[in-house]
Amino acid sequence: MRESFIFYASFYEAIKELADNSQLAVLRALIAYAVCGEEPQLSGAERAVFLLMKPQIDANNRRYENGKRGGKFGILGGRPKKEENPTKTPNVNVNENENVNENKIKESKNKKERRSARASRRSADAADARADRERFYSLRQQKSEAAARRNQKRAEAIPGYLQLAQRVRRGVLEVVKGRLSEEAQAAQVAELEELLKRAGLSRADLEPVPICKQCSDSGWKEDGRPCECYKNSPCGVE
Ligand SMILES: [Zn+2]
Repeated sequence: MRESFIFYASFYEAIKELADNSQLAVLRALIAYAVCGEEPQLSGAERAVFLLMKPQIDANNRRYENGKRGGKFGILGGRPKKEENPTKTPNVNVNENENVNENKIKESKNKKERRSARASRRSADAADARADRERFYSLRQQKSEAAARRNQKRAEAIPGYLQLAQRVRRGVLEVVKGRLSEEAQAAQVAELEELLKRAGLSRADLEPVPICKQCSDSGWKEDGRPCECYKNSPCGVE
């Protein structure tokens, strides 16, 4: 069960074309799917609209699950355990005036304290490494999201693009409702692609494209292991 999910403007765009009772059915199904993973019992236009939104939900859930699995790899991922955090610097001074026996006891105590201080430092270093890693991937995601936004802006500046893009979105529903042939819809899509191509863009350029196909820039592969793409790039630098 997820605590939250992202509701995109494109979801609203798709849903608002439906009748009120269908909007409600799709919204309920979307929430049940995104939060609880329940497969929806929808058909017709409601199902078509749901299928438009599903890939985005799936991608975000994958990213979330990968991040969660990564946590068990301790040194390379996950939140540091509270008790491992360094609390204070242990006192390592030895009083030279103490008798030998006492010194021996203290020595062993100090050894223990030094060991625990070393462990604390290691744990702090691990927390730093984790923070660096998280920064690295968040920066990566921000970069591809920014690139997609730039491309969207460029596309929106093309005369006629917005109207055509809306027609294509509506076309998907029109086909479901039997008001538009699949050929006519394919022609709309081709027209949109042609318009974008003339501006040096493609439809894929309008969505964030992960740099690493293995981990979708989450840093964690499907099997839960850390992705090699981090080691292959110098910390925080691409
Ligand atoms: Zn990767």
